[in-house]
Amino acid sequence: MKEILLIKLGELVLKGLNRKTFEAALLKNIKHRINRLGEFDIRMAQSTITIMPQSEVDLDAVEDKIRKVFGIAAFSRCCVAEKNMESILAASGEYLKDQLEQAQTFKVESKRSDKRFPLKSPEISATVGEYLMKQFPHLGVDVHHPDITVTVEVRDFSAYIRGGVIAGAGGMPVGTSGRAALLISGGIDSPVAGFCMAKRGVELIPVHFASPPYTSERAEQKVVDLMTKVSEYSGRTMLRIVPFAHVQEEILSKCPEELFTIIMRRFMMRVTERIARDAGCEALITGESLGQVASQTMGAIACTDASVDMPVFRPLIGMDKTEIISISRKIDTFDISIQPFEDCCTVFTPKHPRTKPKLQFVEQAEKGLDAEALIEKCVSEVRLTKIGF
Ligand code: ATP
Ligand code: MG
Repeated sequence: MKEILLIKLGELVLKGLNRKTFEAALLKNIKHRINRLGEFDIRMAQSTITIMPQSEVDLDAVEDKIRKVFGIAAFSRCCVAEKNMESILAASGEYLKDQLEQAQTFKVESKRSDKRFPLKSPEISATVGEYLMKQFPHLGVDVHHPDITVTVEVRDFSAYIRGGVIAGAGGMPVGTSGRAALLISGGIDSPVAGFCMAKRGVELIPVHFASPPYTSERAEQKVVDLMTKVSEYSGRTMLRIVPFAHVQEEILSKCPEELFTIIMRRFMMRVTERIARDAGCEALITGESLGQVASQTMGAIACTDASVDMPVFRPLIGMDKTEIISISRKIDTFDISIQPFEDCCTVFTPKHPRTKPKLQFVEQAEKGLDAEALIEKCVSEVRLTKIGF
């Protein structure tokens, strides 16, 4: 029996004039995600995308991918029937056999977008309901809380029958809100921050600061693994790995110890901004959450922001750690994040970091550094790694 996926668009149906752009982006993202799983005919009509396999395809694998595409409100797997009642009845009994045998109650809903079909929606529902009760005599009708809702849609070329809908990832298609550089560490927070912004349609350019020889290759691999998980939602990308030890050593030798962290963070931001500009980004993203550590107080954040011109998005700023962890479990990054590999920040942590740094003193302390040379060296040594290709 021929099975297809029907996809209902998310928030983007509201977008009036931009709708065409949104639909095109979603269609492109869907194609990208599933093209390696087989051949498909993918179409958009009446705010619904149909994915029709044209070869032998593992639809469970397709479903897994589709669950992670932003811009989808809901989707369903349906069987395809010819547009006559005989085919519709036979298909509904056969396709939903297992589900109907297990259910106690059911109801039938019908939609007829092809107005030339001779039966009206309530008549289709009544006919299908009657047929299923004969085929599955144990079933009762419950229009309020049925165990299974059988839906029949009569559309342009065929009729589609399904036994339920699956919630989509929501959000907006990646790419429709521009591009931003994600500062990604090996921690719990930044992958979640990337996920949150991708959900709002932002394409991610991940940037990671590594400090070999103080940090290991395993620590870098951890970031690759994290970003690979995030890319199941945000799409494929190139990770930028920036060697950072020379900057840290310079700060350590020339600046007051209690300002080390804040100055280091300002350099991370400056280098990322430079990389971001070259990559066509319009903003930076971090995983900071207010008050979580000394460098995430309001004063410290103000000092960090003052180092760059681009807007800095911090989607986790008002979240508790428990909320962040629950998202990281959902997107399957948590177990990777808690692997114990050293991060470039933990290598040189000062004992008593300033929690209320004054910008004026921070700028004064940076005077002894050749910022431009340090940044230039970082940018020239960036290594690129494919993610999700
Ligand atoms: P995370 O769990 O994301 O590491 P955190 O709570 O440990 O966050 P910090 O280590 O202070 O906090 O880092 C704050 C933010 O700075 C991170 O969320 C991330 O966006 C950025 N960041 C920290 N370390 C790095 C790094 N090595 N490379 C790139 N970005 C980093
Ligand atoms: Mg961290």
